[in-house]
Amino acid sequence: MKFGFEVLHRDMGTGARLGVLHTPHGDVPTPVFMPVGTAGAVKAMSHESLEALDARIILANTYHLYLRPGHERIEKLGGLHNFMSWDRAILTDSGGYQVFSHRELRSITEEGVHFRSHIDGSKSFFSPEKVVEIQRSLGSDIVMVLDDCTPYPAGRADAEASMELSMRWARRCREQWAGQDDGTKALFGIVQGSVYPDLRKRSAEALGDLDFSGMAIGGLSVGEPKDLMYEVVESTVPLLSWEKPRYLMGVGTPADLVRSVAMGIDMFDCVLPTRNARNGYLFTSQGRVLIKNAMYAEDQRPLDPDCSCRTCRRYSRAYLRHLFLSGEHLYAVYSTLHNLTFYLDMMRKIRDAIRLDSLGNWLGLMEKGGDSSPRDL
Ligand SMILES: [Zn+2]
Repeated sequence: MKFGFEVLHRDMGTGARLGVLHTPHGDVPTPVFMPVGTAGAVKAMSHESLEALDARIILANTYHLYLRPGHERIEKLGGLHNFMSWDRAILTDSGGYQVFSHRELRSITEEGVHFRSHIDGSKSFFSPEKVVEIQRSLGSDIVMVLDDCTPYPAGRADAEASMELSMRWARRCREQWAGQDDGTKALFGIVQGSVYPDLRKRSAEALGDLDFSGMAIGGLSVGEPKDLMYEVVESTVPLLSWEKPRYLMGVGTPADLVRSVAMGIDMFDCVLPTRNARNGYLFTSQGRVLIKNAMYAEDQRPLDPDCSCRTCRRYSRAYLRHLFLSGEHLYAVYSTLHNLTFYLDMMRKIRDAIRLDSLGNWLGLMEKGGDSSPRDL
């Protein structure tokens, strides 16, 4: 089974595409939201629940798995799919983002990045070649190149130097990949260049020459104003090949997903639905619910009357609030199940809307609502 991507339909009114990723671990309809399974587990979600939600692909973090339990051990145990008993698709990030977010613990050179483990302080080193090898040991279906995630704000000269380094690293990842590529898995390039359109353009062109199986837009959702993020996405998407999947990394809110899909993005990942769930922030068809609020103390209604998840079918807002305030483990389970159901249902509705050429109507509704949880989806 070769890795591949097909565009099945283009929405008449927007830049959105309906597509499918073919992976050795099954087909993935796009646009897709990938739940984040940091250390080989989506926090508070059983695999059975993910399967029941029809999650076809999850993201796992190379950095975390490399540190614990170690990619060599995972390889010995038959690869990540076998180790975690997940036979659907897995995308792994390169680990770069986690390394770079622990700023005080790392130093970057041309060769790669030296860093200290956030767990025990031990020293490690990631080179472009090494992160490809680690992800190969894990058996990921989609492998990401090592990149230097430019922080925001960055002056032009810093952003340019960072982007150029990412491009040299991308080339080295590509060369490493060529030696092992049998066509069943994918290596994605990552466009950098901060908020500078000409740098983004140079980055996209440099990666285009390297012929990756898919293209990601990185370095966004790192603190820049939302409008700027959309500007960058809008100006970068046309620089990416029509035939290849486009992945917007680390984004975002429900409204971000709808708007970015309309610009032509096919893939997303974000900790928002899972992390927010645990923090008491729940997405519903009627807007956000902050479950700790006193107004829910005696509210016997389901969290979201339009949601079919097991949480909404069975439990009241009052009970969920009680579980949250009591620090019960079950709260994380029920809230995460709901938020991920909300996200994955929304992606299904987005795909249906593209099929019917009606995604533009959604955008109109959202602009009226101006809410982070679009209503009337
Ligand atoms: Zn629900």
